[in-house]
Amino acid sequence: MSMVQDVRIAKRTGFCYGVREAVDKAKEAADAGKLTHTLGQVVHNEGVVAGLNARGVVSIASLEEAEGGSTVVIRAHGVTPAVRESAAARGLDVIDGTCSWVIAEQKQLQRLVEDGYTIVLLGTPNHPEVVGLLGIAPDAIVVDEEEDWDSIPRRKRMALITQSTQPPWKFERLAARMVHLAHELKIVNTVCPVTIRRQEDTVETAREVDFMVVVGGRSSANTKELTRLCEIVGTPVMQIEHARDLVDPAVFGEARLVGVTGGTSTPIEDLELVAERILDMAGTPGAQARARELAFEALNAAATPAGRTTSLPVNPRISAQAAHEGRLGRSERDAGSGPAAAATVPASAPAAARAAR
Ligand code: SF4
Repeated sequence: MSMVQDVRIAKRTGFCYGVREAVDKAKEAADAGKLTHTLGQVVHNEGVVAGLNARGVVSIASLEEAEGGSTVVIRAHGVTPAVRESAAARGLDVIDGTCSWVIAEQKQLQRLVEDGYTIVLLGTPNHPEVVGLLGIAPDAIVVDEEEDWDSIPRRKRMALITQSTQPPWKFERLAARMVHLAHELKIVNTVCPVTIRRQEDTVETAREVDFMVVVGGRSSANTKELTRLCEIVGTPVMQIEHARDLVDPAVFGEARLVGVTGGTSTPIEDLELVAERILDMAGTPGAQARARELAFEALNAAATPAGRTTSLPVNPRISAQAAHEGRLGRSERDAGSGPAAAATVPASAPAAARAAR
């Protein structure tokens, strides 16, 4: 029986500032008429990638695919120094979209290498950020889940550093474990504050609702962590990648209020689409009739300037043409490339939003 009366979107969701900046840099380069590539998909989200494609941005898997003289945007989680050098040697115009937090993390890691520490890196093997960090510290010992930790050797001088999106509790637990393994232990806490805030706001929402939907990449560590936290709170939870993954209204059981949150690579407008879909498929007749409106209200209640998907001004030429051709999803249309851009900012905060642009 359909019982959902309303939806709530967690605050401070949407792109983190690092992802937003990298996406915007790619858009700006393409809009300036440059032949623009991103090295790997700038974000694993179909709507965003489609929007970039519509602007002429093409993702490439390796530098060999880039035409000489073209522009290559480095993603938020950075690359190895060798990739950077190779791009320069090929005469490519490199736009560095590496997040400022990751740049700081790379510099701190470089110092640990120079100071001769045995370095333990908490992170997901093969994650782009970890691959980039290993380019700086090739001998670092990468560990992820707790069962890996027994492999950490005992050394006189050790240092611990982490991939930005690892859960803080895991970092703290590993730090405590390593106290017993070294005579001198240096702990560099590089857990990103955005990750911490996202987790706090998700827990807050999960406590207030009857059911949670977490939106993000299936293999994304920070998305999985949000799901785990909802489970710890004791709220039934479902993790999906897209609104279309919601197909069975029965999953919501007798839930009346449903919360929605998302990973740092998920645009906030995708959360609005999910909210609308929940109401459409599992809402009471009254909620179904107002699904669009209620989802929009939930978005406005949650959106902050920090949760915006873009910091770029409106580009009417791109949006009008692309919308006409049906090439953009709603998230792209609403996200600063079309007249509906203001929809991502609460009506109560227009001045703050303008100031942040
Ligand atoms: S999660 Fe944090 S460190 Fe990683 S790209 Fe986003 S803002 Fe930067």
